[in-house]
Amino acid sequence: MSLIVQKFGGSSVADAERVFNVARIVTETYDKGNDVVVVVSAQGDTTDELIAKGQEINPNASKRERDMLVAAGEQISISLLAMAIEKLGYPVVSLLGWQAGFQTSSAYTSARIRRVQPNRIRKELDKKRIVIVAGFQGLSKYDDITTLGRGGSDTSAVAIAAAMHADLCQIYTDVEGVYTADPRKVKNARKLKDISYDEMLELATMGAQVLNNRSVEMAKKYNIELEVLSSLVKAPGTIVKEKSRMEKMLISGVAKDTEVARLSVIGIPDEPGLAFKLFSKLSAKNINVDIILQSIGHDNKKDISFTVSADRAEEAKNVLADYVENIGAKEIVCNTEVAKISIVGAGMESHAGVATKMFEALYDAQINIQMIATSEIKVSVLINKKDADRAVTAIHDKFFEE
Ligand code: ASP
Ligand code: MG
Repeated sequence: MSLIVQKFGGSSVADAERVFNVARIVTETYDKGNDVVVVVSAQGDTTDELIAKGQEINPNASKRERDMLVAAGEQISISLLAMAIEKLGYPVVSLLGWQAGFQTSSAYTSARIRRVQPNRIRKELDKKRIVIVAGFQGLSKYDDITTLGRGGSDTSAVAIAAAMHADLCQIYTDVEGVYTADPRKVKNARKLKDISYDEMLELATMGAQVLNNRSVEMAKKYNIELEVLSSLVKAPGTIVKEKSRMEKMLISGVAKDTEVARLSVIGIPDEPGLAFKLFSKLSAKNINVDIILQSIGHDNKKDISFTVSADRAEEAKNVLADYVENIGAKEIVCNTEVAKISIVGAGMESHAGVATKMFEALYDAQINIQMIATSEIKVSVLINKKDADRAVTAIHDKFFEE
């Protein structure tokens, strides 16, 4: 007998038919003699709708009340799923985050899980019940309801799996797994059999949108193997695990991020300390910088370009206005018509020429590269936004079709 944690996202429980579909997956797992703990998110667009309702009443509402509001979405889905399972004739109980032992920080709307005390869950499993837990929520030390940030129920599931030493943690969603590229855009995209935590993290940050980043970080920390699979199509999914046990693949995916902007500070005096000053201004405001490029100086002037996420670009520009003035730089320019394309793969650590192959694909497609950044398992390039989809396809073809 095993302990299995199964998580179902909002689209998997969007309506009555889908709730029963999930009930069947859960009860089939239970019928095989397993203990089953199920984590669900709010149905369909419920969370967005609740947020909109709150906005209508008071756009400046306190975060405490906003959490109180959105946590309601999961209360609906856990009870509906439990009712469906009751109807199929199985013993079941639904639990809110606090009942399931989720203790969190008191950072409303983006609380961190401090610990999960699964006493109640254990008691219910001992009574042979299927346990349904509300994802995305917990309780602060002040006994207030908190939520974990958007997409937080993946993390709830991994936290339970870690706290209870589950044998398996399955993340059911509306795609069949993790793909080598967005399957809606790249027709030859393949489903990966497995992927390492680090690769998954790189892909998740770059908008592969299958698993919440924090859930992958937590899975890595506690060495919890995750299986990402579809609740609608019966097929093996993708296993996310430590890389040592994996088949070697050169690269595991191509991702695109169009929510990025390039800022360039032009005509910075070529003297020590000015890069430091520039980036400390940004980090003081918690603005993350990604790719950085400094030109070789000429006439005692140089340019520094860097990328930030598009929604912080305006702020970054404002933050640096004084700096530009004070050091006597020429100007700061912002370009939002850019996209970041990245290839990710644990295999590149031991293979030369991976970046070259990527550049060749872009050259063949006559796409100009503006900036380049590399890490052990990732190569990113910044290009014109209008070329983004073409670039992904060209690079994907190069690596996966030959
Ligand atoms: N319902 C929450 C959200 O939409 C949590 C989740 O889906 O994981 O963000
Ligand atoms: Mg959701």
